[in-house]
Amino acid sequence: MRVYNFSAGPSMLPLEVLEEAQKGFVDYNNSGMSVTEMSHRSSFYDEIHNECIALFRELLNIGDDYDVLLVQGGASTQFEAVPLNLLHNKADYIVTGNFSKKAYKEAKKFGDIALAGSSEDKNFTYIPKGDALNFREGADYVHFTSNNTIFGTRFTSVPKTDAPLVCDMSSNILSEVINVNDYGLIYAGAQKNVAPAGVTIVIVRKDLIESPNPLCPTMLKYKTQADANSLYNTPPCFSIYMAMLNLRHLKKLGGVAEIQKINEYKAGLLYDFIDNSSFYTNAVVKEDRSLMNVPFVTGDSELDKKFVKEAASHGIQSIKGHKLVGGMRASIYNAMPVEGVKALIEFMKKFELENK
Ligand SMILES: *Cc1c(COP(=O)(O)O)cnc(C)c1O
Repeated sequence: MRVYNFSAGPSMLPLEVLEEAQKGFVDYNNSGMSVTEMSHRSSFYDEIHNECIALFRELLNIGDDYDVLLVQGGASTQFEAVPLNLLHNKADYIVTGNFSKKAYKEAKKFGDIALAGSSEDKNFTYIPKGDALNFREGADYVHFTSNNTIFGTRFTSVPKTDAPLVCDMSSNILSEVINVNDYGLIYAGAQKNVAPAGVTIVIVRKDLIESPNPLCPTMLKYKTQADANSLYNTPPCFSIYMAMLNLRHLKKLGGVAEIQKINEYKAGLLYDFIDNSSFYTNAVVKEDRSLMNVPFVTGDSELDKKFVKEAASHGIQSIKGHKLVGGMRASIYNAMPVEGVKALIEFMKKFELENK
């Protein structure tokens, strides 16, 4: 039996995508080989690779002035790659959670990095905006994290600055419509909303990658993969294949605008239920709430533990909150069906009745 998997990542994939991969797992497209076995220089793989990149371009409406790179090392490696490629004089970072804090710390090793704003004063329960942000004149870039996976906040508009925006979109890429032209660079690990872990997507304006730090390792240089169509070395072929299938699935569904409506509906159901309950609470400032990750607590840590345990026996998996927040966290990425959110709410009602 398949469960509703609320894991923050790796997370659910659409059943249709898993089944499609299963069909061709041993013998892909009459090649007599599995995608896990075939040469990344073969024509079979080439088609997968190029379709994956083309679908990213189509679904996110990415212009020709951007490269779309498929790299390895997870989003965490991008915390280093970004300054090594883009930093010449100085850059500003907005810290709204654990991952952006890591990115900020990593970047500081490479030059003049300043904090443009932070929400750490209130345990990252809001997004700093307007006067709370201080950008320096002439910064090479401003880094921020569009969706904060652990704390359940998101930027509902891009920060206003003249510098190119660099965004960690690991946990909400393809979940809502964006204008790629607002950004200098977008990166995302695949394992939240795209594919199994392994591939990391980098969308970068071509003019930004021409003069990396001379010490930048070849493998971290965007130009290396840009010049080689992301085939400089062996790519994570199977993860890219799964991404391609998932992007095909999203396209068939109607694309990003369509999934955004579904995501807003799902998140709305859950937040409305929490807000109308006197048993559960969500600590995030309402206007900054994430559509993807919904942390909530009962206010009693023993009860929270019991919730997590009992939920698992009701087909609701991996609902335990991150240790920095505690309680529960429902990650409701693109692949979480509406029925999954409804099942969670039903369980929450039942648990409340039994434990009030
Ligand atoms: C999960 C996550 C990361 C870490 O990704 P890895 O691929 O494990 O390195 C970074 N940033 C955000 C916003 C995330 O959600």
